[in-house]
Amino acid sequence: MTANPNLPTKPEPALREVPCRTVLNRTSLGDYSLNCYTGCTHGCAYCYARFMQRFHPHDEPWGAFVDVKVNAVEVLKRQLRRATPGEVFVSSACDGWQPIEAERRLTRRCCELLLEYGFRLNVLTKNRLVLRDLDVFARGDVRLGVTLTTLDQRLAALWEPLAATVAGRLDVLDRAREAGLRTAVMLGPLLPGLSDDRGSIEALLRAAAERDVGTIWLDALNARPRVWPAVAALLRSHFPDLLEPVRRTLFDRPRRQAYLAELGSRVSEAARNVGVAESVRACF
Ligand code: SF4
Repeated sequence: MTANPNLPTKPEPALREVPCRTVLNRTSLGDYSLNCYTGCTHGCAYCYARFMQRFHPHDEPWGAFVDVKVNAVEVLKRQLRRATPGEVFVSSACDGWQPIEAERRLTRRCCELLLEYGFRLNVLTKNRLVLRDLDVFARGDVRLGVTLTTLDQRLAALWEPLAATVAGRLDVLDRAREAGLRTAVMLGPLLPGLSDDRGSIEALLRAAAERDVGTIWLDALNARPRVWPAVAALLRSHFPDLLEPVRRTLFDRPRRQAYLAELGSRVSEAARNVGVAESVRACF
């Protein structure tokens, strides 16, 4: 299969160092979210964080730039003097362990601080770099999760071109469990016509069940701002027959309602078959 058409052929990310005013923010996804970067070079076609480009304009497409919040640690230290401890989602608008983190270590240092101040961490990533920080996570209350949209590596490489392989992400779950951490998976967005059939959902759930994953979220593909053009470009190049059905699934209201109801039934049935109904939470 050829490369994701949404990205340049040689995706050397454009790096910018920018000071931030806050790095720990209130969110509906938990008590707080922490993002040490704007932009994410994993470049997932369906990425909902694309909306950030509206507030941080770049000439490069999503996936080809990263703004590094150079003062993130100092700003967090200041914020922690007043913040009430709670759960922090790491990260909500980027992957905190995307490749630049190997060198900058901002997410690691912020996680150290948060645990020192008694905050709980809810970590979600698609990068094996997170394993570097198991020593930090051992110091507090941390749930380590990975996102999986499919077990088919050829599909994952198209939709999430620079994220860890499927096998690599499953290994993160294994290593997190061995380290005694609570684990989670985000199975989504389930890709219409590609990974949202009952067999694919059961396979994803089984992979989670085999690893005793405590929390399993599932999500449908959503037409968040700026998502459709990227998804449409990928479909046009690789799955042209799906372009129109997926468009209608996202934008035709009655069809979408019917789709989500059917998807909910498939998820419930698959969860019962795999024996994980208690752990499953559908987010749609
Ligand atoms: S890993 Fe997450 S934040 Fe990064 S591009 Fe993919 S969906 Fe977006």
